[in-house]
Amino acid sequence: MLIRTVSPADLQAAYAQGLCPICALNERDERRYIDTMFYDQVTNVTWRAQIRDARGFCAAHTTRILVEGRSALGVALIADDLLKTVREALGAAPALRSSALSRFRTVVGAGRRRVGAVRSTAACPLCLHLRQQTPVHIRSLLQDLANDGGRTAYTLSPGLCVAHLVGVLDSSDPPEGIPFLIEHQQRCWQRLNDELQEFIRKSDYQFAGEPIGEEGDAWRRAFRLLAGWQTGQQLRN
Ligand SMILES: [Zn+2]
Ligand SMILES: [Zn+2]
Repeated sequence: MLIRTVSPADLQAAYAQGLCPICALNERDERRYIDTMFYDQVTNVTWRAQIRDARGFCAAHTTRILVEGRSALGVALIADDLLKTVREALGAAPALRSSALSRFRTVVGAGRRRVGAVRSTAACPLCLHLRQQTPVHIRSLLQDLANDGGRTAYTLSPGLCVAHLVGVLDSSDPPEGIPFLIEHQQRCWQRLNDELQEFIRKSDYQFAGEPIGEEGDAWRRAFRLLAGWQTGQQLRN
């Protein structure tokens, strides 16, 4: 699948979604990938080979494909391909020799040999796609933060998840917006921390009568912002 560039409008929409902007852009790409590939690209031989090598998608992406995919036929064709592949890899049952010991050795040896044949040789294709797309998103964000308009728009965002903050700092290309980004991140974490302290304080029985305000779900927002919103299982490697 082609790597897509990000427009200023895409970035502004990502800032306003209430989640890490890189997670938001990746989430949109995941949706587009599932929409496009299972609908238009099922006959794409390169993509089919990639899926066969990976023995399908990771569990998290499989869940998303099954929940949001709009082409049952596309999924059925890929599943058919995969089942044929793993059946062929597993192969026929080994011929058994006469003695109990030789039968045991034959079966164990055949099982071990076939582990290699059945095992995947590539990562989940959708995780791989996002690994290629994420640096494009990071660069677009940093280019946007290099100008005043971008920085103003970015203040709408709740900051970056830890994995993407690391990716952005690691890239720092272009570097002009990095000081602002760090400042904004600290402000976001400080605000969340203040809300968490308030939530923890009100959780004490002495203050149990005080009404819970916006801090009521600060624990949830903090946990989510730290972990990010991405669903792929092979994205942190
Ligand atoms: Zn993120
Ligand atoms: Zn995946």
